[in-house]
Amino acid sequence: MITSEQVSFDQQHIWHPYSSMINPPPMYPVESTSGVRIKLSSGQELIDGMASWWSVIHGYGHPELNKAAHEQIDKMSHVMFGGLTHEPAIELCRKLVKLTPSNLDKVFLADSGSVAVEVAIKMAIQYFHAQSMPEKCKLLTIKNGYHGDTFGAMSVCDPVTGMHEIFTSLLPKHHFAPAPQIGFSETWDEKDIADLKSILETNHQNIAALILEPIVQGAGGMRFYSPQYLVKARKLCDQYNVLLIADEIATGFGRSGKLFACEHAQIQPDILCLGKAITGGYMSLAATLTSTKIGETISKGGAGCFMHGPTFMGNPLACAIANKSLELLESTDWYNNVQRIEKGLVSGLSEAESLASVANVRCLGAIGVIEMKEAVNTTEIQKLFIERGLWIRPFGKLIYVMPPYVMNDEDLSTLTTGMVDAVACYNY
Ligand SMILES: *Cc1c(COP(=O)(O)O)cnc(C)c1O
Repeated sequence: MITSEQVSFDQQHIWHPYSSMINPPPMYPVESTSGVRIKLSSGQELIDGMASWWSVIHGYGHPELNKAAHEQIDKMSHVMFGGLTHEPAIELCRKLVKLTPSNLDKVFLADSGSVAVEVAIKMAIQYFHAQSMPEKCKLLTIKNGYHGDTFGAMSVCDPVTGMHEIFTSLLPKHHFAPAPQIGFSETWDEKDIADLKSILETNHQNIAALILEPIVQGAGGMRFYSPQYLVKARKLCDQYNVLLIADEIATGFGRSGKLFACEHAQIQPDILCLGKAITGGYMSLAATLTSTKIGETISKGGAGCFMHGPTFMGNPLACAIANKSLELLESTDWYNNVQRIEKGLVSGLSEAESLASVANVRCLGAIGVIEMKEAVNTTEIQKLFIERGLWIRPFGKLIYVMPPYVMNDEDLSTLTTGMVDAVACYNY
């Protein structure tokens, strides 16, 4: 049991994500987690709608993931990756090469999503540098994007919703196209990509890569856009000799209803970033994949190598768990589970559409979003969710869930009913 002294130490000394040191937000101490449930110190159990930010796809404390972790830790928890290699990393990379689009066969193991994005950006820049095109060093991206909290990643986050305005003066200036407006299943209109096209026409000489979250823009707005946009973006990148970086850190491993969201458009990115769900939410691990052509071109450049190498690169414990998580993805029939969850979200959340405070309800794969007309008070609405036994953490106007794929229909229905209820009784 956590003591009140411990809670007060937390408030006085510990930063939480985007938290204040003078006005700490309420914290709910957790005792343990199991399956799709978070057990609070108070004894209350919450159904987890967040999958700990997209990552816990198989649920908490999965016996096979636990076993993989125990077995690996007894053999080797960590060893440096410079000059040494090991089976967990090799087998994980073999799986990643097999699962991802067929052109991607060179893997860089990073330690977090933001770092995977930094690595992708450095790859793109080194690729053109190695071909004596150092002027191709800018990035192009679309508004409403989110790519992480480190400097390179921040520089391609939405300049307003990306939560990084304060750092603008320090960030490199990149090119921003408007966010796609045509929704996932809406009729395509060429106008949606006109601005991206004209930015490329005018600036391609200084652009190394287009970076975007395919199909689902996550933390920057929870928006789902047309696969046609991606199809056209891929063609434009080829036409203007610009690399396409797909940031699938949130969408990867089945979340959007395809194993990778790029598959909705049947396109292959030149560089792919993976993270979040890669270890089933057990540990921090990420990966950046690219093609033979890009890998070899970088290696033929002046530096003779790719210039990055984190201390905990290829951590064996994280790799062993990721290996097992990818095995589970196949053996537990992720596809049908995600389809089932999509159906449950669509039918469960549809009632919210008629509420006066609700602007829009949308679902794709195992992602359900209620967009409110006005920003909600996170603390207030979170209380309503907790009263209903749910863990949901909204931001701004967005109340969204991305449950573990293993959530059963009953829990899913409790989750969606509770969401609609809480939204209905929430007052601004
Ligand atoms: C979460 C996220 C990141 C950053 O990953 P971290 O592990 O938090 O550094 C990058 N891109 C996308 C699309 C994300 O959802």
